Amino acid sequence: MWLKILLRAWAAPYSALGLLLGAPVIALGGHWRTRQGALEIGGGRLGLLARRRRFHFAAITFGHVILGLDAATLEAVRAHEQVHVRQYERWGPLFGPAYLLSSVVQLARGRRPYWDNHFEREAYAKAASGTRG
Ligand SMILES: [Zn+2]
Repeated sequence: MWLKILLRAWAAPYSALGLLLGAPVIALGGHWRTRQGALEIGGGRLGLLARRRRFHFAAITFGHVILGLDAATLEAVRAHEQVHVRQYERWGPLFGPAYLLSSVVQLARGRRPYWDNHFEREAYAKAASGTRG
């Protein structure tokens, strides 16, 4: 129990950002629910707008908050986003800079900043194998 509290506190700055970004989604008709220790927020008018604009976006994780287009999308990407939740718990406030640094390093090597990013590769691999992180 104490470990869970510490991990939540360690990732709390990003969770606060997720809540801040999720508030307008809920205010505009979105939904929220908890799954596997994370708060999932999605849908509503902003979800519809993002879907209509065909953003290349399905979901994004900030600490223990996952923002997604809608409930179906959140369910489909849950395993991947849960790996990101574990990464936030591991890296805490350092996760953002570490993620960006990984993208910059990949870009400098002529690779793809998203698909070759260390954290994304880990999330896709663990989600595919059924490992949460
Ligand atoms: Zn990802």
